[in-house]
Amino acid sequence: MHIHDLIGIGFGPSNLALAIALTEQNSALDAVYLEKQSQFAWHPNMLLDGTQMQISFLKDLVTLRNPSSAFSFLNYLHQQQRLQDFINLKTFYPSRYEFNNYLTWAARQFAGQCHFGEEVTAIEPVILDDKVSHLRISSTSKAGVQQRLARNIIVSVGGSPNIPDAFAQFKNDARVFHSSTYLSSLEKVKHAKRIAIIGAGQSAAEIFVDLHGKGYQVDLITRARAMKPADDSPFINEIFNADYTDYVFNHAPQDRASLIGEFLNTNYAVADRALIEQIYALLYQQKVVGDQRHQFLRRHDIRAAQATAQGIQLQLADLDLGSELGAHYDAVVLATGYQRQAHQQLLAPLAPWLGTHEVDRNYQLISSADFAPKIFLQGSCEASHGLSDTLLSITAIRSQEISQALTSSN
Ligand SMILES: Cc1cc2nc3c(=O)[nH]c(=O)nc-3n(C[C@H](O)[C@H](O)[C@H](O)COP(=O)(O)OP(=O)(O)OC[C@H]3O[C@@H](n4cnc5c(N)ncnc54)[C@H](O)[C@@H]3O)c2cc1C
Repeated sequence: MHIHDLIGIGFGPSNLALAIALTEQNSALDAVYLEKQSQFAWHPNMLLDGTQMQISFLKDLVTLRNPSSAFSFLNYLHQQQRLQDFINLKTFYPSRYEFNNYLTWAARQFAGQCHFGEEVTAIEPVILDDKVSHLRISSTSKAGVQQRLARNIIVSVGGSPNIPDAFAQFKNDARVFHSSTYLSSLEKVKHAKRIAIIGAGQSAAEIFVDLHGKGYQVDLITRARAMKPADDSPFINEIFNADYTDYVFNHAPQDRASLIGEFLNTNYAVADRALIEQIYALLYQQKVVGDQRHQFLRRHDIRAAQATAQGIQLQLADLDLGSELGAHYDAVVLATGYQRQAHQQLLAPLAPWLGTHEVDRNYQLISSADFAPKIFLQGSCEASHGLSDTLLSITAIRSQEISQALTSSN
């Protein structure tokens, strides 16, 4: 069986940026990418009307690495004959819809290297002369199970939905769904009138506004007292500069956590200030007209959830009053964030050679001497490389660091 030089697992922005970096480096590597979605799409279930990018378009797939790249957002606009019109918008923050179109345009140029509709399910060692010489990658698609061999791999599978324990039982109940499937799941509960959103971060806020616009009655349920704004002020934004990755990485592992913790309010459990103001104004208007359509159930904790024939019954604790109350909804949206552990399960068969999954500065997993393949991780190195790892900020630079490490002889 043919052995590829590189198999990329997942084809989101991270591996797309890497594919571009390898191309622009004139790399002769034989690389293919396996993607479980049936076509390229960037968080398709959260492409809501009115949502915008949370970083500058200059942090696209390439510009920080190669401002003259043909894969830049500006060149995309030029190709679409929208460059002048975009300039007239006077913004650094395109709509998420347009950015998805940009990414899709870039991804299309790698169609020959991508296998869509294939979910990677196993990564196993191939042992020759007592050494792991390469890897066997198994994936499933409508056609069944495929196997491919690779000398090196790069795992860029993004986040997996974080489901609070109280909702684990609803895996097959269409009335409870995570924000990552929001638009397609909402289609399945068309008769719903009353919907609860759990969470108070960016996705919760966006979904609240979207459901409001669609005429639903919505309760936003959160343990927090207030919806907090994401800090995107300029000095804080410097933590997303490429050199800050070195700063975090060069600290001792036990010191990195506090560096990351200090700036969690740039990305976790926070929302854009303008969106928060929009929600506040909307709830205020309810008070003005004496309407009770939506509720902001702050300082409320979910104690239990139960499916009934009519809907979902939530048992809520009011953390301030110390009392409990029941509330009934037709559907529940879990805007409860993501976990970043999916790679661990895929890499489990390689445990004897990979130890504790420590990565070096170039995102390469540190392995024992009898393990030849290079394995890189994108999007799951926040603890060692900082908060930008799960975002787009350093995508262009990271892809250069990885492509160089990949093609170097050691
Ligand atoms: C709604 C939303 C909006 C966001 N907006 C911004 C923003 O404005 N700015 C910003 O910096 N960040 C933003 N982010 C953060 C986001 O993580 C990055 O934008 C970006 O998607 C990271 O790219 P990625 O390729 O690492 O991961 P992903 O985009 O998640 O891509 C991973 C890909 O791997 C595929 N995959 C997963 N498992 C497998 C498998 N086993 N086999 C095959 N394929 C697999 C997935 O289908 C997916 O296509 C946003 C996140 C969300 C959820």
